[in-house]
Amino acid sequence: MRRLPLIESRSAIVEPPVARPAGFAERGIPSLTDRRGRVYRYLRLSVTDRCDLACVYCMPPGGEEDHGLRRELLTFEEAARLIAVFAAGGVERVRFTGGEPLVRKDVVELVERVHRRAPHLRLAMTSNGTRLPELAAPLRAAGLGSVNVSLDALDPDCFAALTRGGDVHRVLAGIEAALAVGMEVKLNAVPLEDGPGTAERLGALVDWAWSRAITPRFIELMPLGEGAALADRRLDAAAVRAMLGDRLSAGEPEAPGGPLGPARYVSGRGGRVGFITAISDEFCASCNRVRVTARGDVRACLADRRALSLRDVMRTGGSDADLAWAMHRALGGKSEGHAFLDPDVVEHEHVGMSLIGG
Ligand code: SAM
Ligand code: SF4
Repeated sequence: MRRLPLIESRSAIVEPPVARPAGFAERGIPSLTDRRGRVYRYLRLSVTDRCDLACVYCMPPGGEEDHGLRRELLTFEEAARLIAVFAAGGVERVRFTGGEPLVRKDVVELVERVHRRAPHLRLAMTSNGTRLPELAAPLRAAGLGSVNVSLDALDPDCFAALTRGGDVHRVLAGIEAALAVGMEVKLNAVPLEDGPGTAERLGALVDWAWSRAITPRFIELMPLGEGAALADRRLDAAAVRAMLGDRLSAGEPEAPGGPLGPARYVSGRGGRVGFITAISDEFCASCNRVRVTARGDVRACLADRRALSLRDVMRTGGSDADLAWAMHRALGGKSEGHAFLDPDVVEHEHVGMSLIGG
């Protein structure tokens, strides 16, 4: 078993030749870049590691054992402060995630607080949608512009089996509520053989999304946590494209990266379909995202266990400059590619997606 190295010391970081965003540069603080010249513009912040569903590829039955205690989670004040420092370092977009972000009590207040403090930031959320029927309108009013809703299957029984008890009608109502208040909505699906991953079910999902002008995106299963045991059911982008048949054009997908993130989009007869091909065609070279867990650990990559606690920096009296240096250290040593397929890195070393913040 290979142990991943500890994070490198500050002195080992070599600054790449990229312009530092104003704000950090004025104070002699490094920008959010790594040694390979990747620039970080996109923060995914987990606000909880809990969830009201337990998707088979994400959460063990009954939930994770390692839930953070309330005092271990970032407070809203800490989260808003972190986001402001990330914004000074060049982050332009923030996505609230989890676990299920909408189970965090008063999450609307957090969105509002962040929006007030940094109104130029584009705020988005990834959600399972079950609480959107009630929360879409207040979230929109608080400053949330878009939501990616996870929906793997329209069939109520298939959805309930995948999520261990979820009600697909709640999710559909949540999507309608988000559309009704003018949020941009995308749909995320993890296609798995023997379940949602049949030509009929995937086709129905895409047709339903297109009928509401929503872009569906298929995420290849990653061997994280519960997903590790399901790797033989993974359907890659090529398999999904084949199942969608003549719904999609035969052309090459657009290149990944850029402001739209890692998805590669293919056009089709009723809209577009995105593919997030972390396994079959990794996009690490164009990665522009940084993750912070609900407990305040900054993670440069989903597949990398190295983490550095920004919460501890704040709770031991660290300044914003200390926080910025910690962010810079965490990103500076980021590996060139992910370690998902490295046979020497055992799967149980990766914690589940809901704990990191997917
Ligand atoms: N609860 C919210 C949701 O489901 O959208 C946000 C958190 S969830 C961890 C974020 C995304 O990660 C979801 O789209 C989910 O489908 C995806 N996900 C979870 N486990 C995964 C895995 N092992 N491989 C690929 N995607 C996964
Ligand atoms: Fe919950 Fe999202 Fe994980 Fe499903 S994918 S168990 S909804 S955190």
